[in-house]
Amino acid sequence: GVHAVRLGSGPPPTSGPVALVLQDVTEARRVEAVRRDFVANVGHELKTPVGALGLLAEAMQGAADDPETVQRFAARMAHEADRLARLVRELIDLSRLQGAEPLPELVPVDVDTVLAEAVDRTGLAAAAKGITIAVGGRPGLVVRGVEAQLATAVTNLLANAVAYSPENTRIAVGARARSGFAEIAVTDSGIGIPRQDRGRVFERFYRVDQSRASSTGGTGLGLAIVKHVASNHGGSVTVWSEEGLGSTFTLRIPLAAETPPDPDSPEPAG
Ligand code: ADP
Repeated sequence: GVHAVRLGSGPPPTSGPVALVLQDVTEARRVEAVRRDFVANVGHELKTPVGALGLLAEAMQGAADDPETVQRFAARMAHEADRLARLVRELIDLSRLQGAEPLPELVPVDVDTVLAEAVDRTGLAAAAKGITIAVGGRPGLVVRGVEAQLATAVTNLLANAVAYSPENTRIAVGARARSGFAEIAVTDSGIGIPRQDRGRVFERFYRVDQSRASSTGGTGLGLAIVKHVASNHGGSVTVWSEEGLGSTFTLRIPLAAETPPDPDSPEPAG
């Protein structure tokens, strides 16, 4: 894009109508390129499970007289169909969040309810790996938001924490109040994210390691969805991570006026 670098105290070098038009054109081109890439990516992502389903169906026809083989192929078809369903669901979520629909009104939402819902949705996957999810932090926080979107965002963070952690580890999720925001943090002691990838994991379809991600059934859309939820709420999401040690994702959402004051740790002034 066009960058205006300001040196000293004079007027910015790219001010004026010409620079504005240039900036608009560049921005329009960039948006168009992102859209083209996105459609190409979607096509590619859909091709893999659809291709696998076709091959499995063919193989099944060839093995019709062997019920055990048919069972095995049917199980793999179900797995591919699940993956396809998840991808389509996430694409729909993402397009809704990107403003294909008007944003629902922001209302007071209990953070505890959001956390409980997300823990509930990821509990089975965690249990299957012997992973414990510990809920802590300050109870009783209320944010301004859309409960379903917030639950989706925290669910995605927890699902990632489970997917990218070894068996029998612990995940912590909790909220605290800070400068007018609820900070919801999800901490795992998993594989972590290499420094050079940290800035990019919120991009659509970006995965640190394709082979590692596909074995977890990932789509590369989960964090893009979290980022959109955050920005729809006037909040943000950030990551701290250390390879081999683990990761903490922090989602910041504006507190509602309804949040009761905390007598133990008053908000710092300013
Ligand atoms: P995916 O569906 O592949 O998990 P996401 O958008 O949710 O897609 O995440 C993008 C990438 O960021 C993942 O493929 C993974 O490489 C990395 N990642 C996300 N969360 C974690 C985590 N908690 N620990 C380590 N890596 C993570």
